[in-house]
Amino acid sequence: MAAASAAAAGLAARWLATPWLVWGVGPMAAVNAGFFLTAALLELLLATRLLDSDLLVYPANGAPAKRRDAALAATQEKIPFSKQLLTCLFIIAGPHAVANGASLTLLMRLAGAPAPAAWWPGDVLSAAWQLLAMAVVADFGLYWGHRVQHESKLLWQVHKVHHRIDTPSPFSTMYIHGLDATLQGGIPMALATLLIRPAPAILYISFGLRVAENALNHSGLDSRLLDFFTLKSLPFRAAAAHHDAHHKYCNHPKNARNYGETFYIWDVMFGTVNPRHGTRQGPPPKRVD
Ligand SMILES: [Zn+2]
Ligand SMILES: [Zn+2]
Repeated sequence: MAAASAAAAGLAARWLATPWLVWGVGPMAAVNAGFFLTAALLELLLATRLLDSDLLVYPANGAPAKRRDAALAATQEKIPFSKQLLTCLFIIAGPHAVANGASLTLLMRLAGAPAPAAWWPGDVLSAAWQLLAMAVVADFGLYWGHRVQHESKLLWQVHKVHHRIDTPSPFSTMYIHGLDATLQGGIPMALATLLIRPAPAILYISFGLRVAENALNHSGLDSRLLDFFTLKSLPFRAAAAHHDAHHKYCNHPKNARNYGETFYIWDVMFGTVNPRHGTRQGPPPKRVD
């Protein structure tokens, strides 16, 4: 027993002292664990139909609302579930993910970041601060990484891959071009890490939570119960409806709405919010061109 714990301590110390493990492999593992565990759990929750009453529906111009499962079936007819799953694997465990991990390692080395002394920050307050700061900076970066792809004709060619999903589901989150994932995920997370320099445990939790939230925002579940457990009930947090409406009404370049994912404040600040960003059920948001 003592030998096993000494070996574990040795491994942990070696991990902390090895930049490509701390900044490269760690975040990549956290993204894979955070995404696949959350997406699988949400898909399971959807399959049990326990939260059917919380599924978002959008009646179209007075016509009767199409049930979400019918809309979802139409999307999956266009892009089969197996293809979505394979794309998920390619995006978060494939060459783009490896390149993003290598880039973060290189960036931290170039910035002269010292090897972390410990896994955790000194106290709970520091941990909470680092988590919040990572979420704010990364979501600000995601907002612009997302918006620039709607604003630029060239980058829209990249982002329109993800917009083929008009009715999203958890595993469709990563049906996305690798460059898109880098612009909305890799670069913002790297900049946040560079700026905040969180302890490794906070870094991994931040990466895991980032993709877990992405999966929740694509589930179509706008549930008060889920909002409570996922802290979406807190002020300034974007409901699942925020990104769901983006898929429903913004499958076009220019003048899209609802770019942020964790917070809706960026959309309010920069004039891109759909006024009904937090709605649960109810009439569809007006498309603004
Ligand atoms: Zn978009
Ligand atoms: Zn999306």
